[in-house]
Order: sequence, then C-alpha cells, then structure tokens
Amino acid sequence: MIKSILFSLLFVSGLNAFNIEIVNTTVQNGKTTLVEFEKEKNIAFIELSLDDKKYKIFNHPTNDKKMYALLPISYYAKPRDINVTLTYRENGTPAVKTLLFNIEDGNYEKETLKVDNAKVDLNAKDKKRAALETKETLKIYNTINKKSYIKSEFIFPMSSKITSAFGRARVYNETLKGYHSGTDFRAKVKTPIKASNDGVVVLAKDRFYSGGSIILDHGQGIYTCYFHMSQMNVKAGEKIKKAQIIGLSGKSGRVTGPHLHFSARVNGVQVDPMQLISLMNTKLLK
Ligand SMILES: [Zn+2]
Repeated sequence: MIKSILFSLLFVSGLNAFNIEIVNTTVQNGKTTLVEFEKEKNIAFIELSLDDKKYKIFNHPTNDKKMYALLPISYYAKPRDINVTLTYRENGTPAVKTLLFNIEDGNYEKETLKVDNAKVDLNAKDKKRAALETKETLKIYNTINKKSYIKSEFIFPMSSKITSAFGRARVYNETLKGYHSGTDFRAKVKTPIKASNDGVVVLAKDRFYSGGSIILDHGQGIYTCYFHMSQMNVKAGEKIKKAQIIGLSGKSGRVTGPHLHFSARVNGVQVDPMQLISLMNTKLLK
C-alpha cells in the first residue's frame, strides 16, 4: 500500500520558484506514483522522463490550480535508484531538474494453474489472432488523450471478494507465462459490472485470451479493462458514466472459471489497478 509520506520540493531557479509534491519516492515494480505541481505564471511544466519513456504533465482533472503526472513502474523493472527528469519551460526557456526515486521489489507470489492445453499451445490461426489482438490493444494503451473525463473518485467494478491479486507470477501447466496482469473479482456468470469512472469505450469485443472485453479510456493516459464478460452492454465510441453497468461477468476466453479480471494501464504501462485507484482517490482526487 501507499506510505503516507509526502515529499515536497521547492525549486528556486532564476527569479521564479515552484512547488512540487511527490507522493512517494519509493515505488514497487507494478505500482504507480504521483507528482503534483502548483501552477506558476512563468513556468510551463511539460513532462517527466524515465529511461526512454516520457510521461506528460497534465492539467489536474478537478483542481485548476494544479497539474500532475503519474509515473507507472513496469512489473519487469528491477530494484534500483532511478533519476527522473522533469522538463519544463521558464519564461519560454527550456529547463530540466532531476528527481530521485527508488524502485523496490514488490515480492509478488507465484501461482500454478492448470488450463486447457488448447489455450496454452496455440495453433497457427489462434496464435495469429492473439497477436493481432495484442497489437490492437497496445495501440490503444499507447494513445494518450490530453483531456480527462474524470470528475470524481474511482470505484471498484464490483464489491465481491478478490480471488487473485495483481502481480502473482503465473505458471501454466508447469511453464512460466508471465504474471497476473490484473485483479480478479469473484463473480458468478451474469454479475453486473460497473464502470470504474467516467470515460469513453475504446474497445468492446470478443478476444482470444480475455473473452468478452471492454476497455475504457478515462483520459490522460489512464485506461481500465474488464475481461471474460458474458454480455457487453456498450459499444466502442460510447461515453460512459461512473457506475454505469457496462455488461455482465462470465467465463469467456482463457479462464479456469467465471470471474471478472479487472486491469489498468497508465501511459501504456500495466499497473496494479487497486493501488492505482487508491493512489488516485486518496492523493489526487481527495
Ligand atoms: Zn485475472
């Protein structure tokens, strides 16, 4: 969970000073941290960059005096100290500052699953289908919409028990096949699924691995995903309100039984959706 330490930094450069707040400088792999900026007349905040990835600094969705950037850390990132570069313009002149962070090992558990071999050893046709579907969703996740649709806190898509947490290393039929990329909610077939926040449907279709799948764009690089559905009530392009019933849970795609797989992406990076919601609700949208 998020430690409640808030790092506040005051930068004085030239005649101007600005304030930034970092929710947590220590972040586990697969989690997200947040940097907030107070708007200043002569400063134009642009982006944070880490390695070769850039994270835009956006207008705060509900506070017009602030800006913010989410910094998602990949599940595959190794523990290390990292330098994040803040790029901004001061009276029109480009400038940079270095922010220090530290990636900590999330120490995720391992789980072993037995699934139908037909879904593990794919035939050529299924392999091609799955690859095309992955390409399609990566294009969606890497599309960063500057506008935010968010007006209030996120909610969980349902209130049932969590049966599998984000990040567990997954071993299918004795072969390591990545990690659990979302949070599983216990859900018998046809349990209503709520939209976690306001947004736009960017995908609503049946997919090989994830079955009946809906992806919502909440704007500013934040996406939530709802998989293995038995019924989808919405279509791509539709605007969605928080808590709207977007469909019913099921057991479609590669599953061992009925449940809702709920996941999230931030600036293209897959992150723990529950930690993201907690971070957004308790820090950004408080
Ligand atoms: Zn899952």
